[in-house]
Amino acid sequence: MKLLSVGNPKTLKGMVQGYNTYILHLAPATLSGHNTCPKATPGCIAACLNTAGRGGMFKKGETTNAIQQARIRKTNLFYNDRDAFMTLLVNDIKLAIRQSAKLGLIPVFRLNGTSDLSWEKYEVLNTGRTIFEFFPDVQFYDYTKILGRKVSGIANYHLTFSAADGNDMDVIRAIAQGMNVAVVFGIKKTLAMPESYNGRSVFNGDESDLRFLDPKGVVVGLYAKGKAKKDTTGFVKYPTIMLKAA
Ligand code: SF4
Repeated sequence: MKLLSVGNPKTLKGMVQGYNTYILHLAPATLSGHNTCPKATPGCIAACLNTAGRGGMFKKGETTNAIQQARIRKTNLFYNDRDAFMTLLVNDIKLAIRQSAKLGLIPVFRLNGTSDLSWEKYEVLNTGRTIFEFFPDVQFYDYTKILGRKVSGIANYHLTFSAADGNDMDVIRAIAQGMNVAVVFGIKKTLAMPESYNGRSVFNGDESDLRFLDPKGVVVGLYAKGKAKKDTTGFVKYPTIMLKAA
C-alpha cells in the first residue's frame, strides 16, 4: 500500500516554484468509523475536498469508489496497526525525497490532505521521535481547525488555521496568536480577492498550495470550489467589504 500521492492541479503549480508536494489522504471526519477531524463542522464536511476530482466520481447507484475505499483502508491501518502505518509512511517519505532529488525539486509534505490529525502527538516506531523529528530537514505543512496545537517549537511544520461555519471565535484567537487563517470566499474566480478580512490583508492562496511560503499575518483567501459553491452553512464567507477590480 502506498500512503502518499503527488500531483493535484493546485500542487502542480508549486512545481513551477521548485517544490513537489506529497499528500496523505485519509478518510475525513468519521467516514472510516474513526474520527480524523475532531473540529469538523457540518459545512466543511459537506464541502470537503475528499470528494474533489476522481475521489468524488461514483458509478450510478454507488456511494463509494476505489479511492474512497483506499482512504478508509489507510485510516484503519493508522488506528489498528500504527507501526505498520508508520513504516509505510517513513518509506514513502524516503522514496519521495529520492524521486524529488532526481527531478531537481524540493519535496514537501501535507499529511492532513483530508484529515486533521495532530501529527506532533504521534511517535514513529518507538523512536521517541515524531515524524517531524524523524525528517528534520523536510518541510511539512497543513491546514487545521484545532486551535492551540503544540507546534510552535517545530521548525519544519507550518500550520494555517481554517475558518469554517461556527468557529468565528477560534478564527479571532488564531489571528491573535499570529496564525495565518484560510478563508473560503464565495466569489467568482474572475474577481480579485477582497483586500482585507477581519482586519487582515488577504493573500490569494489559490496561486499555489505552498502555505509555508505565505507572508505572515494574512488571511489566506481561497475561491469556493466544487460543493462549496452551494454552501449555505456559513462555511463559505461572503465579504461585504469593497472588492478590488479584477
Ligand atoms: S476538517 Fe478538513 S478534512 Fe476534515 S471534514 Fe472538514 S474539510 Fe474535510
